[in-house]
Amino acid sequence: MDALVSLCKRRGFIFQSSEIYGGLGSAWDYGPLGVELKRNIRNLWWQDVVHRRADVVGIEAAVLMHPRVWEASGHLERFTDPMVDCRACKRRFRADKLDEQPWTHYCPAKKDNKFEVPAGESCKHCGARRTLCPECGRGELTEPRQFNMMLKTFLGPVEDDAALTYLRPETAQAMFVNFENVLQATRRKLPFGIAQIGRSFRNEITPGNFIFRTREFEQMEMEFFVNPHDTVDGRPADEYWHDYWIEERLAWYRRYGIRAENLQLREHPKEELAHYSKRTVDIEYRFAIGWSELEGIANRTDFDLKQHAAFSGKSLTYFDEERKAHVVPYVIEPAAGVDRSVLAFMTDAYHEEEVRGEKRVVLRFHPDIAPVKIAVLPLLKKREDIVARAREVRDCLARHWVVVYDDTAAIGRLYRRQDEVGTPFCLTVDVQTVGDAGRGEVGDQRVTIRDRDSMEQIRVPLAELPAVFGRLLGGSAWAEVAREYPRVGADRS
Ligand SMILES: [Zn+2]
Ligand SMILES: [Zn+2]
Repeated sequence: MDALVSLCKRRGFIFQSSEIYGGLGSAWDYGPLGVELKRNIRNLWWQDVVHRRADVVGIEAAVLMHPRVWEASGHLERFTDPMVDCRACKRRFRADKLDEQPWTHYCPAKKDNKFEVPAGESCKHCGARRTLCPECGRGELTEPRQFNMMLKTFLGPVEDDAALTYLRPETAQAMFVNFENVLQATRRKLPFGIAQIGRSFRNEITPGNFIFRTREFEQMEMEFFVNPHDTVDGRPADEYWHDYWIEERLAWYRRYGIRAENLQLREHPKEELAHYSKRTVDIEYRFAIGWSELEGIANRTDFDLKQHAAFSGKSLTYFDEERKAHVVPYVIEPAAGVDRSVLAFMTDAYHEEEVRGEKRVVLRFHPDIAPVKIAVLPLLKKREDIVARAREVRDCLARHWVVVYDDTAAIGRLYRRQDEVGTPFCLTVDVQTVGDAGRGEVGDQRVTIRDRDSMEQIRVPLAELPAVFGRLLGGSAWAEVAREYPRVGADRS
């Protein structure tokens, strides 16, 4: 994790928020490479969950919603954690997690002795158990109080309860309150889905582990509405579609390069289910902190539509032509985190290996995930004709792909820099490409393309570059394309 966090900062994937002011706890900014990586993840999700499907449409709702939304959804009442405060140092803790951290202890059996006792254990000198604040070891703790995790804000000129509202803690509620609008506007038949990508906010008391848990985060959520009276393959439609989306979402992460052995499904036991859920399955990734949730796929039943119908007084039903009756659809919800996906794709891609006695760090991103697809490098930056040709090539390829030009170091170093940020292909323009005008040479009009993973190189005519990269970045294997072109010796690094 430390190596990855340091790479993220050094190369411009992720910076700490407001760093020049000492940083803001658990808030992060995406830099020039991070923003491309994040956009790729969002775009691939949207492509596969919305554009390629005939049964899903998208929306983009406001972060601010009517406060009654959160009464209806149950967030105002139930989206809480029991908290205790230390009367001395004023620190706040989750009551149910107090004994999951080591605690500070001033032992009466040993004069002036301040100890740190391991989490959940009693003092081995006096046998005492923790009753005071685990941090300062002196303060009494208050009784637990329910602390709502929604972030409050005030709208309008007066700060009173009438203007109180919340930053949404999930994007899902916008799909429920817009159900009737979307149904009317699109004339959909069940089953169909409404998808959204957007920011959500939770006032987490214990955020942390880099971008894994933050107070401001981005979600990719889809609410898939099904007719609970229908059956598919002899099973209730909601159960069929729940399994369908679990498989579909698991396959999505694998399709874009996450290794199968680092993904697993976890069924929520009954006592852990959220109040709205009939069944929830998490897709977990083997993060550096251990197996943790990457995405949750819940069967939310008809809970949300019924709640919003009751609170708003509006009918949120679907007319079932076959049964000549109004039904309240059931909802299957795949809910993924964009930031967690960034962390999972980076963790999975990160490799350190030894090449000719030197350490090579490489991010083995799937080409669709990689922030930069092609780096154009001039072999000699002092030769104007080489530089001019390289810039021309960059401008031409940049019409189709994210391409960078770099001439700030020797070629070996430039290759390593691109490996480290996961650029699948480097392209070099050299003396052979342009020839020597002084001697009347025109050059061979070919460039060298180097593959990140195998470090093999081929020589390709300039005119064929768009077609060759179209194949390489469009799903063709390197070996398949490379055998059609002359090989060049191992990379010059
Ligand atoms: Zn304290
Ligand atoms: Zn003791």
